[in-house]
Amino acid sequence: MSDPIYEKVYHKLPVFLQNVAVSVYGLKLRRQRYGKLFHRYTEELKATEWHTKEEIEDLQNKCFRDLIVHAYKKVPFYKNLYDSHGVNFSQIQNLDDINRLPVITKNDIKKANTQVISDEFQAENLITTKTSGTTGTPLTVYQTLESINLQWAFFWRSRIRFDLSINDRHLMFGARMPVSQEQNYPPYWRHDYFNKRVYISTSHISRKTLHSIVNFLNTNQFVFYTGYPSAIYVLAKFIDDLGLEIKNKPRVIAFGSDSVSPSQKKLIAKVFGARIIEFYGMVEFAGTMSMCEYDRFHVDHEHCYIETEKADNPESQKLILTGWGNKAMPFIRYDIGDYASPAKTNCPCGRHTDSYISIDGRAEDYITTPDGRKLTGFNQVFKNARNILEVQVIQKNIEDVTLKIVPDEDFNESDKVYLLKEFRKRAGKQIGVKLEIVESIPRLKYGKFKSVISHVE
Ligand SMILES: [Zn+2]
Repeated sequence: MSDPIYEKVYHKLPVFLQNVAVSVYGLKLRRQRYGKLFHRYTEELKATEWHTKEEIEDLQNKCFRDLIVHAYKKVPFYKNLYDSHGVNFSQIQNLDDINRLPVITKNDIKKANTQVISDEFQAENLITTKTSGTTGTPLTVYQTLESINLQWAFFWRSRIRFDLSINDRHLMFGARMPVSQEQNYPPYWRHDYFNKRVYISTSHISRKTLHSIVNFLNTNQFVFYTGYPSAIYVLAKFIDDLGLEIKNKPRVIAFGSDSVSPSQKKLIAKVFGARIIEFYGMVEFAGTMSMCEYDRFHVDHEHCYIETEKADNPESQKLILTGWGNKAMPFIRYDIGDYASPAKTNCPCGRHTDSYISIDGRAEDYITTPDGRKLTGFNQVFKNARNILEVQVIQKNIEDVTLKIVPDEDFNESDKVYLLKEFRKRAGKQIGVKLEIVESIPRLKYGKFKSVISHVE
């Protein structure tokens, strides 16, 4: 679907043939993600999530030792790195010694190019995915089919906790553009029959299309919605503003990979009457965390170990990820730049893995202040902002930032003052701030909303 030629042909097809094309593509994805291994892994993971503390430590220590031996022997990037740091492997017996290994960043991996791929694999036989981002070149991640199946097994284990199944009919607010931008009449959705999934075009959600979308939702039954929460929020806000009602409520909304503020999340839950679930993960598959019934993020200890580093904010810690779920391209002490707040007590759900109360900021959401601080978590800043549909922070240089705002009908001067005050509270007085009122905020390719775009390296 991402092939431009394919897309050109696709958009000329009548709707029923587009549904066939979407389904055929869906079948390809289904075969790749949900192979035999996926089902085996999922069954295993349903048992291991109840590991005792001791079993967790034993498993992580063993996998970690295997991982560093594998990386040193088979992955040229790690061999060079550890040789140049004079790493003495006899001093590294288990995870207590992990800090004898250097921390790596996305830039290190990018510079190393294909040196990060294990000698056991040929790059052309691996499945590639690119990370998204607004600055610099994306990172290409090379993965084995086995690893893809494992990744989806973790993803689904977290959903199984909420009684979802891969065979449930669901609505996807999505990553792809199934409906041409030129189309200004319904249907604004396409069917993927093999995955029992309907793609709704997030770029077609507006006041004008609202009644036909709500009518579609009310004449169809979906077990869950998934995809970009920013898009789900826009729909929820329109529905709420016009006092419409969703009669066929989904049971769960599984948030995808961008973020909304706590108040936006509340509105989504209210309008759709659904349980909201979240998952912490990334293209690199270096570490994942799955939400439990008590809204905590539990480390998926079967494939990763997550360390924290003291950050500016004592509550929120920088995460360092070590993952052994992809033999072709492992990540060891990967500083992805994400922050989370560790839980200080055992979780009432009974799982013994390390857990986190919240994910506070993703690496891509930084701005840099003139005094060199890296600020993240802007969703928190805007959580009480009034009469605003969307905000985006854009930083072109270190001196100042622009806040792009899509206002509500009731937006007024006092809302502006409040927003600037909240922003200043966190960013300080040194940085210049400009407000820009806009009609809409463009999405990245595939429809992802970015709340922060920084061009400062
Ligand atoms: Zn829990």
